[in-house]
Amino acid sequence: MIKKYYLLSPGPTPVPEEALSAAAEPIIHHRTPQFSDIFMEVTEGLKYTFQTQEDVFTLASSGTGAMQTAVINTLSPGDKVISLNGGKFGERWGEICRAFGVEVKEIKLEWGKEYTKEQLSEELNSNPDTKAVFSTLSETSSGTVFDIQGYGEVVSKTDALLVVDGISGLGATPCPMDDWNVDVMVAGSQKSFMIPPGLAYIALSQKAWKFVENSTLPKYYYDLKRYKESLGKRTTPWTPAVSLVIQQKKSLDIIRNMGLKRLFDHHRILGETTRAAVKAIGLELLSERPGNILTAVKVPEGVDGNKLKKIMQEKYNAYIAGGQSSYKGKIFRIAHLGYMGAFDIITALSALEMTLSELGYEFDRGKAIKAAQDILKENWQ
Ligand SMILES: *Cc1c(COP(=O)(O)O)cnc(C)c1O
Repeated sequence: MIKKYYLLSPGPTPVPEEALSAAAEPIIHHRTPQFSDIFMEVTEGLKYTFQTQEDVFTLASSGTGAMQTAVINTLSPGDKVISLNGGKFGERWGEICRAFGVEVKEIKLEWGKEYTKEQLSEELNSNPDTKAVFSTLSETSSGTVFDIQGYGEVVSKTDALLVVDGISGLGATPCPMDDWNVDVMVAGSQKSFMIPPGLAYIALSQKAWKFVENSTLPKYYYDLKRYKESLGKRTTPWTPAVSLVIQQKKSLDIIRNMGLKRLFDHHRILGETTRAAVKAIGLELLSERPGNILTAVKVPEGVDGNKLKKIMQEKYNAYIAGGQSSYKGKIFRIAHLGYMGAFDIITALSALEMTLSELGYEFDRGKAIKAAQDILKENWQ
């Protein structure tokens, strides 16, 4: 058989053809009016997607570069912060902070568990010298979406900053930066922004810019003051990733034409479809607050999770993601993120049913597909 490859992972995600082919266009010089026009349109599109009036800066890095940028531009050595660690990516905030000599009070959550704004409020009351709260919109390792709106209500009443990793969630699930009082928001190009890996985005509130003035952590390449000054001149401080910026313009056009509301609805329908389908064949979700970005599913008892992933990826070329860290072999993750349509979910579920039956799991084959079709038929728009 022709082994067609199906990318069903929560990053990198599939890229629409307009954006793919834009990578083949001749390179233009970045210090030209032509490039500046494209760059400024991208910046506007990012502001639209971040739902902010503040500047959004484009970095040539993966998402983690923007996370580091958030830390080194706002804090100083010895500053105390709270970091919500609900999985692999929440953990990263703590690692970055410690690497730069920031003192971290880490709230370690079991993967998939929720953390309420009331809990955060108590934590801040007992740690009044906290400079920043680091959190994750969509924890990609567990498929959990956290209550950023609630955290914003709590943190905005204090002198601390709310820093949010929106790398997989922003653009797929609602998180209006300004309305929800997010002080620093970071995102990455290879998730919901529908282009290849290589760009990261960051925006700061006015409250966060005051922190920038006092921050003494070392910085050069990621010094946001330089980015701000350059953006005033319609450019970037260093050579931008020209082709990726042009590709981002194509995908942002799709996002803007569709509108955020319809885009969020699209993800909600795909999320509901996936959850209903896996439940219909007796599988359980990992998360108690599952998001519409990806669905993390527990490997059922008696099934070898590593084999499940291997068969899906290598036999059927349906590239879902497995579990990370201690969840390796215990969960698998189906993404409904980026440039994915309804029938991409059907493909994932079909490969899943074939794999599960091969591994001896007992269920009615076809039931997941039927459950998925029921939701899609009802919600088709
Ligand atoms: C993918 C991801 C990251 C890491 O981004 P890189 O692009 O690999 O550096 C960070 N946080 C979340 C929530 C992610 O999904």
